[in-house]
Amino acid sequence: MFRQGFHSSYRVLVGAVALLATAGGVGRAQRQMASPRIDQQLLPLRVIDATMIDTTAKACNDFFQFANGAWLARDTIPAAYSFSGVSRDMADRNELVVRSVLEEAMAKRAAPSTNSTQRKLGTFYASCMDSVGAEAKGATTLRPLLSRIDGMTARAQLIAQIAEVQINGGNALFAYAPSADPHDAAHYMVWLVQAGLGLPDRDYYTDQGPAADSLRTAYVDHIAKVLTLSGEEVSTAAGDAARVMALETEMAKASTRRVDLRDPAATDHPMTLAQLGALAPNADWPAYFRTIGLTASVAKVNVANPEFFKHLSELVESTPLPDWRAYLRFHALSQVSPWLSGPFVNEDFAFNSRFTGAKELLPRWKRCARETDRLMGEALGQAYVTRTFPATARARAKAVIDDIRDAFHERLLQLAWMSDSTRAQALDKLAKMSEKVGYPDKWRDYSRLVVGEGAFALNVQRANAFEWRRVVNRPGLPVDKTEWAMTVPTVNAYYDATVNEMVFPAGALVPQTFDPSADDAANYGSLGGSWAGHELTHGFDDEGRHYDAAGNLRDWWLPADSVHFSEQAAMVVNQYNGYIQVDTFHVNGRLTLGENIADYGGVLTGYDALQHALQRNGRPGLIDGFTPEQRFFLSYAQSFRQHTRPAALRTRVTVDPHAPEEWRVNAPLSNMPAFAAAFKCKPGDPMVRPVELVPRIW
Ligand SMILES: [Zn+2]
Repeated sequence: MFRQGFHSSYRVLVGAVALLATAGGVGRAQRQMASPRIDQQLLPLRVIDATMIDTTAKACNDFFQFANGAWLARDTIPAAYSFSGVSRDMADRNELVVRSVLEEAMAKRAAPSTNSTQRKLGTFYASCMDSVGAEAKGATTLRPLLSRIDGMTARAQLIAQIAEVQINGGNALFAYAPSADPHDAAHYMVWLVQAGLGLPDRDYYTDQGPAADSLRTAYVDHIAKVLTLSGEEVSTAAGDAARVMALETEMAKASTRRVDLRDPAATDHPMTLAQLGALAPNADWPAYFRTIGLTASVAKVNVANPEFFKHLSELVESTPLPDWRAYLRFHALSQVSPWLSGPFVNEDFAFNSRFTGAKELLPRWKRCARETDRLMGEALGQAYVTRTFPATARARAKAVIDDIRDAFHERLLQLAWMSDSTRAQALDKLAKMSEKVGYPDKWRDYSRLVVGEGAFALNVQRANAFEWRRVVNRPGLPVDKTEWAMTVPTVNAYYDATVNEMVFPAGALVPQTFDPSADDAANYGSLGGSWAGHELTHGFDDEGRHYDAAGNLRDWWLPADSVHFSEQAAMVVNQYNGYIQVDTFHVNGRLTLGENIADYGGVLTGYDALQHALQRNGRPGLIDGFTPEQRFFLSYAQSFRQHTRPAALRTRVTVDPHAPEEWRVNAPLSNMPAFAAAFKCKPGDPMVRPVELVPRIW
């Protein structure tokens, strides 16, 4: 389950988890609202499904296996996926709703009564579904951009060419991101962030050993194949590919490690334009800002990774121009490869499947539904909400989330280790934490987006350029607090530290996560614990705790409280370092620390909220033979029901801040006396961690 935790917009740009093709861009169908066609196609999802429990397993030995084992035994991961489980099941349902919205928009796009945004939506999806057109065009769609890259004859033209590839959505060298100022979170500023690598992480370029060598060889082959498909001679393409790899390896060595990016201070380097010029003198920054369309006056920029930009400047000077042309050519092609002709699509899939383990392409309509959601998500979101998310479901979900806030408030009041001074600040941060539930109150304006009937690759570029123009001149302006960083049908949620808010898209607020008609124990285990409690705790994890109630990077902790937190966090790191991720690879306790703290705090808080609900509403009897407390833990564990291919688990060791699902369940529960009490586990059982090893944070 790829629930995004700590989020700010520049992190979206550096994130590589998207390679695993998981959460984004999918919808769901709610029982009472879904069309009959959708209900006929898929089995209903329940917040707790007793048929998934392995009654032969011992709850006190391996609770993940107990809660999900019967399902794990009968499940086969479909060929087009890197995993199966809750988020895929929910996404499958959501995608059918999205499909019905898009097919209707496509059918009605020529009708005079159709409004302009709906017409664009239908045209966008129709051009994506036109596989015959894509086949006929090959890479010709990209010819104007490629010929401008090839026509670059002077180093002075390089920065403008990089800008053009970026504006069209390509991953070229670094990222420009107007995001919140870390010291004035109410306003945007320019962020410049390391980027531009074709492999999922810098470590892939520097890791030692045969597996790493073979991935690098495969990447060079892939670059050569893509360049050959675009018309280069085979021998030229092989040489170009080797030089692109050499250039990216230099960039990788200068890139900050993912674990080090967890410290917000590591990416906090505001400077004037003159200082940026001194740091990276070989890049013409005024020309760059002019080319991208930044007309606002820029007093300062935040350079997230100064070492990277220093080295990048040296590379601008030292790398031969033909190498830069090959690099930009490859990244321009790579970005739209999934939307060109069959040979491009297949090569793109074959390379990416090394990291996901998927065996075949998703059906075209699913790929198109996801891309349309990614690029025009708020145009389809309104129709999606109308079809699937009634106001009553929104109100009930909000009530569960509010109960979680109350429970966390109470925990803060009772924490023995925290000083009253730090506690007062934490309570203030909690009180000011806002939440968005379901869908935006204000929808995005697409009037300036141009969508054409022709090649879909061009529409992808246009939609990226539209998004670029939408945000490029934000530096200096107030932060738009109404904006959503995820689309409505998404099976995911996030906490944004600079806005101090939790956001829960409607796509996540359905069974299996949540069902207004389910018992409290079911809803508080899943929506309460593993979703709302989890996101709330991100405000107080190893990253989030460095931000104050207003979203500013400011240390509000008394030193003794910081010391306690860091010591307990180190215990969480040790606990997870001890678990196997896949084969001989261990979980990376430092990389996953924030998510692990959020999981632990989430389930503790959800449990408290359930106790309050039971006092308020009365204790029900056994359901399916389980007490409310047992059902709470079952619901929590089933909310992480997932079965993942080994290739994807190996990629996740390097790129994913979330631990594998079995540890997201077993690790926090084995720290909880309430879990041991619910299932009568004894000291010495695997699900009961020795008390001296149990971290105590929230
Ligand atoms: Zn998270």
